Amino acid sequence: MWFDAPSQEVLQKLNVNPDVGLSESEAKERLEKYGENKLASQSKKSLWQLFLSQINDVMIYILLVAAIISAFMHEYSDTIVILLVILINALIGVFQESKAEKSLEALKKLSTPKAIVKREGIIKEIPSEEVVVGDIIILDAGRYLPADLRLIESANLKIDESAFTGESVPAEKDSNVTLANGNIPIGDMINMAFMSTLVTYGRGTGVVVNTGMNTQIGKIADMLNKEEDNTTPLQRRLASLGKTLGFGAVGICILIFVISMFQGRDWFEMLLTAISLAVAAIPEGLPAIVAIVLAMGVQRMIKQNSIVKKLPAVETLGSVNIICSDKTGTLTLNVMTIKKCCINNKLVSINDCDLGDNDTKLLFEGMILCNDATSKDGSKTGDPTEIALLDAGIKYDLYKEDLSTDHSRVDEIPFDSDRKLMTTVNKYDSHFKAFTKGAIDNLLKLSDKILLDGEIIDFTQEKKDEILKISNLMSDEALRVLGLSYKDIKDESVSIDSLEKDLTFVGLMGMIDPPREEVKPSIALCKQAGITPIMITGDHKNTAFAIASELGIANSINECMTGAEIDSYSDEEFNKIVNNYKVFARVSPENKVKIVKAFKFHGNIVSMTGDGVNDAPSLKAADIGVAMGITGTDVAKGAADMILTDDNFTTIVKAVEEGRNIYANIRKAIIFLLSCNLGEIVSLFVAILLNFDPPLLPIHILWVNLITDSFPALSLGIDPKDPSVMEHPPRNPKESLFAEHMGLFLALNGVLIGGVTLAAFLLGERLYMSSLVHAQTLAFVVLSFSQLFFSLSMRSREKSLLKVGLFTNKYLLLSILLGMCIQFLIIIIPFFADVFNVFILSARDWLLVICISLIPFLLNEIFKLIKYHR
Ligand code: ATP
Repeated sequence: MWFDAPSQEVLQKLNVNPDVGLSESEAKERLEKYGENKLASQSKKSLWQLFLSQINDVMIYILLVAAIISAFMHEYSDTIVILLVILINALIGVFQESKAEKSLEALKKLSTPKAIVKREGIIKEIPSEEVVVGDIIILDAGRYLPADLRLIESANLKIDESAFTGESVPAEKDSNVTLANGNIPIGDMINMAFMSTLVTYGRGTGVVVNTGMNTQIGKIADMLNKEEDNTTPLQRRLASLGKTLGFGAVGICILIFVISMFQGRDWFEMLLTAISLAVAAIPEGLPAIVAIVLAMGVQRMIKQNSIVKKLPAVETLGSVNIICSDKTGTLTLNVMTIKKCCINNKLVSINDCDLGDNDTKLLFEGMILCNDATSKDGSKTGDPTEIALLDAGIKYDLYKEDLSTDHSRVDEIPFDSDRKLMTTVNKYDSHFKAFTKGAIDNLLKLSDKILLDGEIIDFTQEKKDEILKISNLMSDEALRVLGLSYKDIKDESVSIDSLEKDLTFVGLMGMIDPPREEVKPSIALCKQAGITPIMITGDHKNTAFAIASELGIANSINECMTGAEIDSYSDEEFNKIVNNYKVFARVSPENKVKIVKAFKFHGNIVSMTGDGVNDAPSLKAADIGVAMGITGTDVAKGAADMILTDDNFTTIVKAVEEGRNIYANIRKAIIFLLSCNLGEIVSLFVAILLNFDPPLLPIHILWVNLITDSFPALSLGIDPKDPSVMEHPPRNPKESLFAEHMGLFLALNGVLIGGVTLAAFLLGERLYMSSLVHAQTLAFVVLSFSQLFFSLSMRSREKSLLKVGLFTNKYLLLSILLGMCIQFLIIIIPFFADVFNVFILSARDWLLVICISLIPFLLNEIFKLIKYHR
């Protein structure tokens, strides 16, 4: 065991120096020896298993029965075609599913946590899977542990171990303790930290003692392999639509079968027809098409810097009408530069500070010592706010390394976004100094003295008002303001609770963080698309408003509210007024939840960004939780539906646009397939009702339905972006697939396709009076061609094909060409012509067929032209 030995001994055993860490070559060797640091997960389906799962479907069983009956009846060509259709259909399904699965797998990899390790003396981030025994791991708040560790350093470290212990209060950890040997429960191992638990507070360092399946979590097998339901609302709706259509199909089949029996038709022929019709009515290809379109859309989104973690998010994105965004880093660059300081009640430019003055020196010193960032020779790590403070010191030759050597840190209270403060205790010659830096409003509450011209005097309300006034002046210029207070302590063992009390105020520093250039047009685009951008920030109201008005988010300070004001309203009161506000400043993580809930109360679909440890509740409460990829903690990333790899607001807007397009494309594919299916049903049903010969053979229906349709539908699913998609208001998520007269559109086109097929058949019967086969061939080709041409019209409901651009979806053109070629080959190659029972068409027939097949497409285009012109 590792908890019963002092950390030095553990390090020796594992053969690692904690100041340097492992060498890369040693790490590589250990990785090869012990394997990757990951938990065994469910094995993936092989291609063969995927293929079998395609066959394992009621529809396929029905077709197999049909094939067997045909064989019994010596109709071998029917048997061959049915088997061929099953095979090709399953292969298309395998291709789609494996592609969809692969891209989702890649997506999962992108969002797995990383670990911060020290190797060869350098601190760096590596994928958790590459962590090996002996690695030195740096822990900070918000990060999941990549492996089991023996702690070697800890500063107020708290870890949420509820996954093991069920204890909801985070466990306090201490690296200096050595426990007695014996059977100690996990919850009591205070010098250890375990894989997949979460650092909620403080800092620490540990050495890896176990990885992968050897970790504590690896031993709890049933916690692994939790599969989340990742189907989207649309997919669920499609599944239920499929069921309804299935029942409908069975009804129609029985009806057709009964009618045809009364008409005295051949029972076997009609049985096959009924089965093919049932197959035609159920859009069996749809789920696979929807899955692949979603997966490919998600792939495209990765290229645009957004990682969608949960598939349903893609759809919800299209409905978002409120985007709540952090300010720092998302709307701004998060590149901070100190511009002004306030010392001794005077506002001065950072370039005019007098470091000879002791008060000024103390301000700089405190800001640099109470700081976790590093900035040395151009290499910077840590929070940009803190880096800016270090860089201001460097201007005056004040370096953190020197100061920290002279005044080592003996205690600290880390920054958190509730207090908006951070405190460190540093050693001075004969005493200690506690420095507290952070949000001015909170700092003033804790300070009862002020340092003015070398003297410490009472911090009266009047003096506080003066400081607030100066701070507001800085905020009005969009500066982010941080204050510094301190107090002298004799004994370092003073309790943490009394550190942030009775402080002496020193001064302020104000830093500029310019807005991102690309954000302004994105905000304008949001407004045009019916989406309201909302700024939510921990920063001061005036700073927030200055940036918000520059970006076009708010026009008046009356549209800004602070966290304290939010707290003063009950939930009901806040719900009533929330719509009047565009900027929320000085908010706490709890305020964020209240804001999300209030917006949702009005039926809005809300997206919310977050990065901190405490942001998980608001990310979960939002319809779309968006975590920051660069500055975000693992907790925020874990709770989010989507991660921005560039932390940029514009990326959210692009994702919304992509979400709208993906939904629109899926809808096109669905409506296309259903219109085609309806066409097949109409032609046969009408023919049977009117006591005609059947215009199509069962194998024709199967072929067109399962093979010819699939590729155009898939190509519609990946139709290029419609540039006008952001000119419309967001879609109501409850809206049916058939809203906006889509149902009527589908029905009309179904009737059109069915109508031209029937027309070709009747024409054929008339032209070639003696040959039923000839007429059926015409109907077969018209059915498939008219659907292929019609797919072009599906690209836009409003714009004509010329406007959309004939060549802008090359996949669709290729699919149409492919479909036509296959159809052509079936007819001219005698073997296939025999199997499909078709007649070789003359040049005149082909011309006729093409002309008739163009009718649905042309009518659609003419309709759009008339409507468009109006
Ligand atoms: P957002 O990213 O949500 O727009 P923010 O980054 O400004 O907001 P926080 O990081 O929570 O929000 O900061 C809120 C306030 O806390 C800041 O205005 C500042 O006064 C103070 N603050 C920020 N960082 C530090 C820090 N490292 N040490 C002390 N105080 C800080």
